[in-house]
Amino acid sequence: MSQYDQLITSSDPSHPANLICELCKLFYNNGWVTGTGGGISIRDGDKIYIAPSGVQKERMVPENMFVMDFTTTKYLRTPKVFKPSACTPLFMSAYTMRDAGACIHTHSQAAVLVSLLYEKEFKIANIEQIKAIPKVTEPGYLSFFDTLTIPIIENTAHEEDLTETLQQAIKNYPGTTAVIVRRHGIYVWGETVWKAKVYNEAIDYLLELAVKLKGFGIPPHIGVGEEKNYVDPKIYN
Ligand SMILES: [Zn+2]
Repeated sequence: MSQYDQLITSSDPSHPANLICELCKLFYNNGWVTGTGGGISIRDGDKIYIAPSGVQKERMVPENMFVMDFTTTKYLRTPKVFKPSACTPLFMSAYTMRDAGACIHTHSQAAVLVSLLYEKEFKIANIEQIKAIPKVTEPGYLSFFDTLTIPIIENTAHEEDLTETLQQAIKNYPGTTAVIVRRHGIYVWGETVWKAKVYNEAIDYLLELAVKLKGFGIPPHIGVGEEKNYVDPKIYN
């Protein structure tokens, strides 16, 4: 086997090249990545594994992976028939600015809907699932009584053109582990691939819940018990 293929060949299911395929399938089944939209990248020490552009997510195989050297940003492995993902500079922003171990990009409908219901930032409070989200600026996780805030940036015609505004949002929101892109989707990162996965799942749950709450006229960031001021009296109790 060539050194080139050794980078992506392993019988270990937790090898990044295998994990990316597994997660792409899972996220495809969740409706978060469809067709060729969305993407996943995992950092393993000095190596960055990136799913390519133009491959159907549920059919991804390890041989499709790009591998980049984190320090030099040179590709160590480039599959001939595929293009690198346009998300690559955005994934790199999470690695260089936040020391992330993985970054997930989905086109989740909940993220797109939320981006149309909020102007500059998404906010939700007093929901149990918030406890899965890290504080980032200090150790530990948000509590039930905390407010989760995620910045929203404007979309661009080409994915790579989002890099500057995504980096600005990461700077402006030191406590965030995600950025929503209006009419497009969301980027979520974490210290490890498993943490990124858990954060992405928890955040997507909260985005979907917020859309449903807004459908009932309940602002998702209000205090406990305040909902009765918003719910239509005809259906409350
Ligand atoms: Zn995208």
